[in-house]
Amino acid sequence: MSIRLALKVDVDTDRGTRVGVPNLAADLQAVGAPAAFLFSLGPDQTGRAITRVLRPGFFQKISRTSVVQIYGVRTLLNGTLLPAPHIGRRNAGVMRAVRDAGFEVGIHCYNHYRWQDYVQTMPLAGVREEFEAARAEFLRVFGTEARTAGAPGWQSNARSREVYDEAELLYASDARGGAPFFPRVEGKVFKTLEIPSTLPTFDELMGRPEYPDDQIVAHYLKLMQAAADAGGGTQVFTLHAEIEGMGRRGLFQQLLAACEKVGVEFVRLDEYARELLANRAVIPVRDQVLAEIDGRSGVVAVQAA
Ligand SMILES: [Zn+2]
Repeated sequence: MSIRLALKVDVDTDRGTRVGVPNLAADLQAVGAPAAFLFSLGPDQTGRAITRVLRPGFFQKISRTSVVQIYGVRTLLNGTLLPAPHIGRRNAGVMRAVRDAGFEVGIHCYNHYRWQDYVQTMPLAGVREEFEAARAEFLRVFGTEARTAGAPGWQSNARSREVYDEAELLYASDARGGAPFFPRVEGKVFKTLEIPSTLPTFDELMGRPEYPDDQIVAHYLKLMQAAADAGGGTQVFTLHAEIEGMGRRGLFQQLLAACEKVGVEFVRLDEYARELLANRAVIPVRDQVLAEIDGRSGVVAVQAA
């Protein structure tokens, strides 16, 4: 069966927005591939993520993917020794250019560091404040309400689902693995369609001895073909402006070329969402839980087994 693929771009940092986003937009346009760019709209406090070195598993990840090499020293100091640049205010032009080029745009977050590290302990009011700040900045930049969101670090819970429902999003993409579903968290069913990412991210594979760079493209094609042959439907791949748009740009260009060669059909995530919602009654309700996944430290939102 032929492969159908939707691309979602998480944009985490000021530098990734300024440099990685235009690079990716150019590479995607070169092969005529659509994508959804999800922006971090508030202060870039990436440097605060350095405190994650205190967590188990982080040293292993640093040595695998060379965080300094990917993000750059400047980015790692933002919000620590250097003031946090406001991504939306500094990069509105880049963001609008991506939308004007025909790409879908949506919300990744307001403050990436705060959402990724604290959303699981924040009360509803705090989560709402964070997401409403992102919506307000999105509205200021684009002049329209955001219709989609995908959370930093795949961190999702009943409170964040609640504020997504309040925002009347078309769909969200917060979870990892499996088919689209309506999430049930802590016994409550939420109305915003969830379209999970089905493929591993580059940084989950990079630097592992079993996935040398010259095998990564073939690995993705194998995963996508296996899913297509199993009737797995549309695959969703999350990339990062800071990785595929910068340090690993060449490798992503190779992946795009390989996709083009085998005739992968690209679909924009919002189109895919509309297709699914046209048959709303057949979309399953699934329990959303937090679990570990291969290649990533900590837990992420997944469908319960
Ligand atoms: Zn992110």
